[in-house]
Amino acid sequence: MIPAVLPTYARADVTFERGEGPYLFATDGKRYLDFASGVAVTALGHCHPRLIEALTAQAQKLWHSSNLFQVAGQQKVAQRLIAHSFADSVFFCNSGAEAVECAIKVARKYQAETGHAEKYRLIACTGSFHGRTLATLAAAGNEKYLRGFGPPAPGFDHVAFGNLNEMRAKVTKETAAILVEPVQGEGGLATAPEGYLAGLRAICDEFGLLLVYDEVQSGMGRTGRLFAHEWEGVAPDVLATAKALGGGFPVGACLVTERAAVGMTAGSHGSTFGGNPLAMAVADAVLDVMLAPGFFARVERAADLLRRRLDALVAEYPKVFAERRGKGLLTGVKCVVPNTEMVDRLRKAGLLTVGAGENVVRLLPPLIIEERQIDEAVGILEGVARQWTS
Ligand SMILES: *Cc1c(COP(=O)(O)O)cnc(C)c1O
Repeated sequence: MIPAVLPTYARADVTFERGEGPYLFATDGKRYLDFASGVAVTALGHCHPRLIEALTAQAQKLWHSSNLFQVAGQQKVAQRLIAHSFADSVFFCNSGAEAVECAIKVARKYQAETGHAEKYRLIACTGSFHGRTLATLAAAGNEKYLRGFGPPAPGFDHVAFGNLNEMRAKVTKETAAILVEPVQGEGGLATAPEGYLAGLRAICDEFGLLLVYDEVQSGMGRTGRLFAHEWEGVAPDVLATAKALGGGFPVGACLVTERAAVGMTAGSHGSTFGGNPLAMAVADAVLDVMLAPGFFARVERAADLLRRRLDALVAEYPKVFAERRGKGLLTGVKCVVPNTEMVDRLRKAGLLTVGAGENVVRLLPPLIIEERQIDEAVGILEGVARQWTS
């Protein structure tokens, strides 16, 4: 008999009932150190007092009014995102896939509005992940996720991540934009090689394309900057973000420049729930914490420590770990042993992690992680690695 909840996930048999900072407590009382963070979502850990305060205060006042009216919190959150990024304007939605969908629409509309209706295709990279809607699946082009769902949505071409020559060669008269993750999350933590984003920017400028970043996973502080592309200092025209923006409350955003948004006028796009008062109250509180002086410096220090610990671990257990990957706290290890079994064993030992492509195990601690908790996680990793070598 089919389960009451459609069985689309390969779920681990554990239910959590409570969270506290970087720890989760299961219904059987067992405590886990959470280096999954709901897949890079709970960036401030669980039950952060500022977020609880913001959500409960808003819950007493107003939950939803719709985008038929002004929504007070949207102005403030948008202005803060704009003040700390390349962007001039923000569309709010509820998820990463929706943010990427909006980005795709912005890119196509820009070309149509500027006299190039023939330009509608986006070039994306193999190994990428952009969400599970029909357009975002086609954008990523992952056969495994597309199979059985009919012809992929038209308008997407694919090249290898990190290869500028391939990208340049793929541009046609129909190309509207380039879509990339500065650090591939689900795909296995491939990081844009130095100069890659600048090269993409140059290609976009040469051919009149928009540069679109998917920072749904790499954004909102995960790499030690508000957005990962800041490390290269190469601004996009459009950026999708979501995951950590609400610290666990569903909210996404598509950031755009004024130039890119030329066609996004009244009636061109919408969302019933997008940017509702609860989401905005929480996102504003997330920004309060992340934009406070010293926050990103702390993330960088934590990432540095984790990086050194992981390098040592990889060096010590070459039969278990092949290499460390990623950037900042969007990090992990490529395994020699099967990553799914590694994730299972780590969980049984009390550490939650996330698998990724290319046999990688992602380590995505909350950004508030402390030194002793990194040591605790590495201790568990080492204990499990030893099981394989003994
Ligand atoms: C998670 C993710 C998405 C999809 O986000 P959802 O909220 O699951 O729709 C899109 N792009 C990237 C890079 C992601 O990591």
